[in-house]
Amino acid sequence: MKNETYKKLIVANWKMNPSSSKEAEELSGTVQREVRGLKNVEIVLCPPFPYLSVVGALAKGAQSCHWEQKGAYTGAVSPAMLKDMGCEYVIIGHSERKQYFGETDEIINKKVKAALKAGLKVVLCIGEDTRDSFDSKGHWTHELDPKLKEQIIGAFEGVKKSNIQNIVVAYEPVWAIGTGNPATPDDVLSAKIFIRKILSNLYDRKEADKVRVLYGGSTNKKNSAVFIKEGQADGLLVGGASLDSDEFVEMVKSIYENS
Ligand code: PEP
Repeated sequence: MKNETYKKLIVANWKMNPSSSKEAEELSGTVQREVRGLKNVEIVLCPPFPYLSVVGALAKGAQSCHWEQKGAYTGAVSPAMLKDMGCEYVIIGHSERKQYFGETDEIINKKVKAALKAGLKVVLCIGEDTRDSFDSKGHWTHELDPKLKEQIIGAFEGVKKSNIQNIVVAYEPVWAIGTGNPATPDDVLSAKIFIRKILSNLYDRKEADKVRVLYGGSTNKKNSAVFIKEGQADGLLVGGASLDSDEFVEMVKSIYENS
């Protein structure tokens, strides 16, 4: 696969953590200090909404958004508001949003289009639930699991070709998230090839090759570089490890050194 010229992208998903703004400020402050000067990596911090203002110099991202830009949707936050707060990115389709908040492929598609309309870049999460789609030789393969394909086609429905490079696809197998059981670099490479192939069919090869593919699921400072070097991921979406500033900074440095 031709290697891309993009900076590697590292997205920190803090989820519903930490429990105080003081801790959020400390976490963000330490990361910013320690990664200063690492020019060929792009780091995006995605704190919970109330802490968005603690992210200073680094790129800011949100963990979700609504599909309307304003209106009577109690408790919701719109893409336009996020853009106005200085967000550059929004995570859409995380498996926890599906599991706990009932998000469907249709809702995800509406959110993707609304976020792009507001001028945000989307980190679109996709991933199969289980690892049991084996071929006749006993090799696990994405081709046999309809889930990934359906998720990609569903999320990109109605998205114009001119906009697809504003979507970053995060391959996050559900079985690898928060389990301590990451995918292998081969899994990541085969997912990247598979995702690009579907996008090539939907759009064209040239545009599909501009869509960055991240890996997420039980990454840490020891394993992150291998997903970039061998798995050819364009970056990582990091959950648990992004809450420990030392661990996260080590991950960023190892990606910086290996890209
Ligand atoms: C995630 O929730 O997006 C994630 C990748 O989590 P973790 O790194 O903790 O597996």
